[in-house]
Amino acid sequence: MDNEKYISEIVANVIKSINAGGEVKTSAATHKKGVFTSMTDALQAVNKAYNELKNYSVAQREEMIKNIRRLTLEEAETMAVMGVKETGMGNVNDKIIKHQLVAKKTPGTEDLKPSVMTGDAGLTLVEMAPYGVIGSITPSTNPSETVICNSMGMIAGGNGVVFNPHPNAKDVANYAVDLVNRAVLEAGGPENIVVSVENPTKESSDEMMQSPIVRMLVATGGPGVVKALLSSGKKAIGAGAGNPPVIVDDTADVLKAAKDIVDGASFDNNLPCIAEKECFAFNNIADTLITEMQKHGAYLIKGDEIQKLMDTCLVNKDGKYSINKKWVGKDAYKFLEAIGINAPAGTKLIICETDASHPFVQVELMMPILAIVRVNDIDEAIAKACQAEHGNRHSAHIHSKNVDHLSKFAKAVETTIFVKNAPSYAGIGAGGEGYTTFTIAGPTGEGLTAAHSFTRSRRCVLVDGLHIV
Ligand code: NAD
Repeated sequence: MDNEKYISEIVANVIKSINAGGEVKTSAATHKKGVFTSMTDALQAVNKAYNELKNYSVAQREEMIKNIRRLTLEEAETMAVMGVKETGMGNVNDKIIKHQLVAKKTPGTEDLKPSVMTGDAGLTLVEMAPYGVIGSITPSTNPSETVICNSMGMIAGGNGVVFNPHPNAKDVANYAVDLVNRAVLEAGGPENIVVSVENPTKESSDEMMQSPIVRMLVATGGPGVVKALLSSGKKAIGAGAGNPPVIVDDTADVLKAAKDIVDGASFDNNLPCIAEKECFAFNNIADTLITEMQKHGAYLIKGDEIQKLMDTCLVNKDGKYSINKKWVGKDAYKFLEAIGINAPAGTKLIICETDASHPFVQVELMMPILAIVRVNDIDEAIAKACQAEHGNRHSAHIHSKNVDHLSKFAKAVETTIFVKNAPSYAGIGAGGEGYTTFTIAGPTGEGLTAAHSFTRSRRCVLVDGLHIV
């Protein structure tokens, strides 16, 4: 066969395959299920899978979710170890807990609640229908957790998903993509209902965002990605940055507050977007709070030590501070080591007293460092806490038994998550009531996302029938 004829035949086959909605046979799938070398192939594959999923019942989707829960519990440690190794951030024990939380408390199909209107004119049904193929961009801070949590909600809603994971966490994110596919196949579900690319890049992200196959976008990350997403012209859910303040007033159980704040702020080395990132403490309880925090794994630094720590973990560009990315999510003892302090065993958080304008208060560090600012009263605390939150409307926390203080702060700060008298993680169902999610959509208003967030409302009307009174 001559060259020209050979090429024409390949092109004809590819076009035939695309028109049939099938996977392009020349596509190079990797050894991980659902992980492709090219975004074009990944998109083709998930589109085919989504069309197949339409033929499955909601009960069958629930079987898929059940298997995802089981495999996530079984492989939580593997993913926790991989995540820490690949990203160099966080710690294994807390990452195991995060995967367990995802497995146990992410809603499934029960989250889809149809509604009905009946009357003289007949019966109208409103059902929660899939969007189709959803494009999802995931962060480096909770890489596999976000892939699994989003997959559960999106599959429960009847969708297919294409991920463009954070390049620095691609292996563990793609391990999770493979896990979800294994779980779905075991339940008799379609191949490639969740896909990803082996080497995610800005180009693969752009291709995903622009593809007509993708009907909805969901991004979890910092301000850059949320902005890019909201400029896409598509229906989008943006889960953006936070910088959660915590207030402790003089009616609080200060001993409990100290332990709760250390536990919340040190969890996974402060990577979670909901974690306490700066503290505003009433003057008359601040000394007790600091002393008690030290009993629970906090190490207090003072004077020059604070400056040395800033020089280590922040970048100062003409007086404007930002994080030195290589320090994000590192263990507390490593920071102390870098400034010449030998940390006592069990140190999990560094604390220091600063004023409210300090970069440790203003910058979202995602490091186990908590600045404590003394305040005189609730109005000062609320004003400074709201300023430090920067209007992200993400998360804020308070320890107080004064109902007026609790309400006043909640109203002023307007955050999606507001935790009272508990560690921050109670806000995503760890020790608090309610389901979990790792995609908290403040900017676009969906709040704590779940299956219902990934569906469209559709109305079906029957006139003059099927009502019984
Ligand atoms: P990041 O913003 O660096 O990356 C997040 C994702 O967005 C990655 O996949 C990255 O490749 C992609 N991305 C970044 N800029 C982009 C752009 N301009 N166009 C397209 N894609 C882009 O965030 P990270 O360091 O991985 O995660 C930490 C940040 O995410 C923090 O700000 C944290 O508060 C936030 N976060 C928010 C939530 C939430 O639910 N609201 C959850 C986790 C993390």
